[in-house]
Amino acid sequence: MSATTHETLLVRYRIRARLRAIGACRIVGATTPDAPADGAVVRDAAGRPVLPGTSLKGALRATAEAWLRVFGPAIACDPIEGPTCSAATRGSATRDAIDRATCRVCALFGSTHLAGRLTVLDAPADGDVRTETRGSVAVDRDYETARGGAFSFEVVRAGSTFAFEAILENPTDADVALVAELLERLADGDVVLGAATSRGLGRFVCEQPTLARIDATGLLDGRDYTAIDWPDQDNRRAVLDAALRGAGPSEE
Ligand SMILES: [Zn+2]
Repeated sequence: MSATTHETLLVRYRIRARLRAIGACRIVGATTPDAPADGAVVRDAAGRPVLPGTSLKGALRATAEAWLRVFGPAIACDPIEGPTCSAATRGSATRDAIDRATCRVCALFGSTHLAGRLTVLDAPADGDVRTETRGSVAVDRDYETARGGAFSFEVVRAGSTFAFEAILENPTDADVALVAELLERLADGDVVLGAATSRGLGRFVCEQPTLARIDATGLLDGRDYTAIDWPDQDNRRAVLDAALRGAGPSEE
């Protein structure tokens, strides 16, 4: 992979989908894993509930890591047990050296030394989203014991929908296949978003994902994205198999 892959924009893909809450969902930002002080859902400047892009990206990344870690650290490094790409690339002088030492998950989602190719935008409420307030008892996350004191928090109701949008810059075919696979898992309800997930407050399904593409010339000329088809499942599997081959057990 050449250094220009990351430094010069050659092509940009836009992914849009609708996320539908299949249970009530408590939304908090990724930087505040516990409830905000007032227990309220995150809202945008217009007062609409919003799914923070950082939370969405974090959930997709966690799903990718859990799925791909079996293929070894060149495919998915382990941020907890190590080795991590960040440690491997520390002190690397050139972009090529960093690229070579970066695992597939970090190349897509980013690491401390590299911006990822995938950007997930905040997903605003799409249509009528209603919220309600619930009560609970504070539970210590490490010991699963009551920490004392009841508190209330706000949830968005089941059926609420949000407009998901993500951007992929200069992706490889394997990146597109990987994102398609993650969206399919999201469509199946296998990706959990938000806090308090053990109480079922964070399950979403992904509906009608669309893919569109624009190249650098089109962007400069102010043209719009062109809708394209997702790679079909056979094609996707072949691309992923080739990308993961030699790095660990095959999926087949
Ligand atoms: Zn990594």
